[in-house]
Amino acid sequence: MSTETKTIYQPLYENIKKYEMFINNEWVQSVSQKTFPSVNPFTGEVWAEIPAGEKEDVDRAVQAAKTAFETGEWPKLHGSQRGALLRRFGDLIAENAEMLAVSEVVDNGKLIREMLGQVKSLPGWCYYFAGFADKIHGETIPVEVPNMINYTVREPLGVVGAIVPWNSPLLLTLWKLCPALAAGNTIVIKPSEVASGSILELSKLIEKAGFPPGVVNVVTGFGETAGAALASHPDVRKIAFTGSAETGKLIVKSSADHFARVSLELGGKSPNIIFEDADLSNAVNGVLAGIFAATGQTCMAGSRVLIQNSIYDQFVEALVSRTSEIKLGNPLDMATEMGTVAFAGQHQKVMNYIEIGQQEGARLLYGGKRPTREDLKNGLFVEPTIFGDVSNDMRIAQEEIFGPVVCLIRFETEEDAIRIANDIQFGLASAVWTKDVQRAHRIASKIKAGTVWINNYRKVGFSSPFGGYKASGIGRENGLYVMQEYTQIKSVWVDTGNIITDPFKIL
Ligand code: NAD
Repeated sequence: MSTETKTIYQPLYENIKKYEMFINNEWVQSVSQKTFPSVNPFTGEVWAEIPAGEKEDVDRAVQAAKTAFETGEWPKLHGSQRGALLRRFGDLIAENAEMLAVSEVVDNGKLIREMLGQVKSLPGWCYYFAGFADKIHGETIPVEVPNMINYTVREPLGVVGAIVPWNSPLLLTLWKLCPALAAGNTIVIKPSEVASGSILELSKLIEKAGFPPGVVNVVTGFGETAGAALASHPDVRKIAFTGSAETGKLIVKSSADHFARVSLELGGKSPNIIFEDADLSNAVNGVLAGIFAATGQTCMAGSRVLIQNSIYDQFVEALVSRTSEIKLGNPLDMATEMGTVAFAGQHQKVMNYIEIGQQEGARLLYGGKRPTREDLKNGLFVEPTIFGDVSNDMRIAQEEIFGPVVCLIRFETEEDAIRIANDIQFGLASAVWTKDVQRAHRIASKIKAGTVWINNYRKVGFSSPFGGYKASGIGRENGLYVMQEYTQIKSVWVDTGNIITDPFKIL
């Protein structure tokens, strides 16, 4: 950590920050004046007070976004001007990378060594989607009706509601914000009640970038109040949601009342498949990256590791040995390799699953406890945990734990591996480790998941679509394709000389 990071981090750590929400380019408290505390999962101390927005606050924000979309300066801007604003926003993120990184570390316990890299990548999303802002256009369509020109126009949807989880608030907000604004929509963001701080810090940069009032609004608060009010608001034309499958179902139901579009990025239980011809030390590192990075709290966690029987014992020995070296510690220390779970409820959930795994008869090969080290005692730590000889029908193999718990499952043949990999309700991500290029592509074609990594894990990028098959979601984020999700098509027919002789005959 640089001296500068320490200076930024001290006030976040030592004084309780009193945040306001960002509505219509103004900093406001909730109408009710209620707030809720945000707890640093490493120290166990309250580090911020967050406004508890409710329906009235959501109404206010949606109204501001609707006005901005319909009558403000925003719809008058050319795409190149929207692009320029997004680029300026990207520059500001780059300039304030350390501050943003630290605010997320304090908020959800993610590692500073991961966050510094992640935040430095965020401007890329702004610049990539800025590039689309002046290249959104329709087409001229050849029609069979004589003397007719038919053309399409690609238009924004209106007000977008973005509901994001606590595990990667900055990244997942940008995945929605950038394409939504590039396409000319306005947006109301509802961060998770567990980690709202980094999004409120980001909002200061939104203000600084110079977006017109109402274009971007942030309402903090709880899911059942602020989230539900946003998802069911009749003036919201699209809900972009990332979170759990349970909440995803509620979002779909509430959007049905006013036929809003919905994109859902939900959970996963991704298979990480290791064949006997894989580069084993590389694969061990890939497994660690898949499950213990971010303390296993990523949707794409490689939480089921399928290992070919012939190398099972050798691989497990190497994995356990490498896992025993993982350095747990202060997430703000650059040397720390695994931090805390983000909040007490999640910690309890992970510990419960470890109990369930033991009851189900899986072999606990490593970890499984809350560490007792003195310097970790206030933090919500869970030891990196490895269960061996897991059967794919066990609950620990079928349900998303969202913590540092990995299930090792044996397989014999390629067909076996594919069957086990796909025998799950989820289909978010997957990986295969092998030197056989033909097999790698065969597996990629047969896995039912939105992402397949070959000899790597956890790579994402602004130009590559990301999303889930099956219960892992609807729609995609990132890449060119996502622009369709934030626009709608209008078809315009122009008569260039027909005389209407029979008004009741269309063709
Ligand atoms: P969650 O569903 O509990 O909450 C997500 C968001 O929804 C929060 O902002 C919350 O306040 C809000 N919310 C809760 N109830 C609501 C309601 N009734 N109406 C409207 N909004 C409501 O999820 P979480 O615990 O914050 O996040 C973890 C989950 O997110 C995991 O399942 C994980 O896999 C998933 N996730 C998916 C991706 C992906 O890209 N597929 C990425 C990250 C996380």
